[in-house]
Amino acid sequence: MKTQQFVVIGLGRFGSSLALQLVDMGCEVLGIDRNEDVVDSMSELLTHTVVADATDEDSLRSLGIRNFDCGIVAIGDDIQVSILTTILLKELGVKKVVAKAISVLHGRALEKLGVDRVIYPERDMGIRVAHQLVTPNLLDY
Ligand code: ATP
Repeated sequence: MKTQQFVVIGLGRFGSSLALQLVDMGCEVLGIDRNEDVVDSMSELLTHTVVADATDEDSLRSLGIRNFDCGIVAIGDDIQVSILTTILLKELGVKKVVAKAISVLHGRALEKLGVDRVIYPERDMGIRVAHQLVTPNLLDY
């Protein structure tokens, strides 16, 4: 089976954790962040890393973003950057786009842009932990 290729944009706590887990699971991961220190700290751990501004269309195009199976927009705090990056991934033709939201309205905006899945890290983790506390013998999901 072909190795799945992911591009993770924004290597904060959420993005870096997700990217590392994908590598652990045998996927190829390109990590992008505008912060050089962040990229340096991840460069040995991910398949590829690049310092780039996610809202720079030419950079994303030259990285061949459209060839990836899935793009993850892991930038939350700056909603404008999150939305612009999402639009670029969709326009460049990334097959599947997943984006992190920091509020319900942010999530609704992402849905309107056609993202395949919106993730609310804190809310989703709260739900998951509650399930694990009430049914601790269930396999992790
Ligand atoms: P987390 O909760 O995942 O740690 P955070 O809330 O600390 O994230 P965010 O603002 O969501 O921080 O940013 C996550 C990462 O995205 C940071 O490492 C930041 O450098 C990167 N980032 C922010 N804007 C851009 C951009 N325009 N291009 C590329 N990377 C960016």
